[in-house]
Amino acid sequence: MRYSAVRGTVALALLLGICLGAVASEEPVRVLATTTIVGDVVRVVAGDRVALRVLLPTDADPHAFQPTPADAAAIADADLIVLSGAGLEEELEALLRGATGRLVDLSERVALRPVSSAGVEGEDRHHGWDPHVWFDPTNVMVWASSLEAALGELDPENSQVYSANAAAYREALGSLDLWIWDQVARVPRAKRRLVSDHRSFDYFAARYGFEVVGTVFPGRSTLAEPSAQEMARLIEGIRALEVAAIFVGTTANPALAEAIAADTGTAVVRLYTGSLSDESGPAATYLEMMRHNVTAIVEALAR
Ligand SMILES: [Zn+2]
Repeated sequence: MRYSAVRGTVALALLLGICLGAVASEEPVRVLATTTIVGDVVRVVAGDRVALRVLLPTDADPHAFQPTPADAAAIADADLIVLSGAGLEEELEALLRGATGRLVDLSERVALRPVSSAGVEGEDRHHGWDPHVWFDPTNVMVWASSLEAALGELDPENSQVYSANAAAYREALGSLDLWIWDQVARVPRAKRRLVSDHRSFDYFAARYGFEVVGTVFPGRSTLAEPSAQEMARLIEGIRALEVAAIFVGTTANPALAEAIAADTGTAVVRLYTGSLSDESGPAATYLEMMRHNVTAIVEALAR
């Protein structure tokens, strides 16, 4: 009795497997990407072989983004969920991890940097790792490889396409890396100091020989406001080090940075940090975003 029940289940599972297999080859894999940056990398590696939905709109702050009911439905519907990871999507992660679709945390295979800022006390929801890995293009090479593997497993028929796309992209990222080295060489060593809206440039700084000397918002996220003491210390530091610019991402509120800039005679330079621009803007893809940001950083500091 028991044996035949098991045998029946096996037969049914085989039958279902055949049916599901037939459906899967006709319908594209539904992929949900969190940020516009993640979405761009998925688009490059997947090409037109998947149905892609990017959850966050342009200029949404990935640290603070709260999903709508429609977003939750899209998450529930996805075959593959791709997140930037390492705690970036802190308000979304529980929902993403609870979904039935396969989850790819792009930062899982990246060598993460611990958050070194003193301003993280009381933020016990954080994992203690800096999630802004994409500011080092060699980390995005790791992203491309993770996507190549995940897409190839979900959709083996197209795995060669994904591998070819990922290989070409890793090459483009290598060229970008060399180009950045060339650009930053124009900034004198003593001027390679970054002040930004929040702690988002450590991977960039580590790779290209910069030092992050201060942030407007303490910590690795935009969710914590600075205290009066922290503000005073930052203003003091900007004056002492003769910092030329405060770099503020398009996803952050620039009001505080503007007040500090007015106070210290520095410039506020807007960069694309947590989001791409829209299609007509200067940072429509990850590669364009990095070129735009590096050009702006070099222009501001090489004077
Ligand atoms: Zn950030």
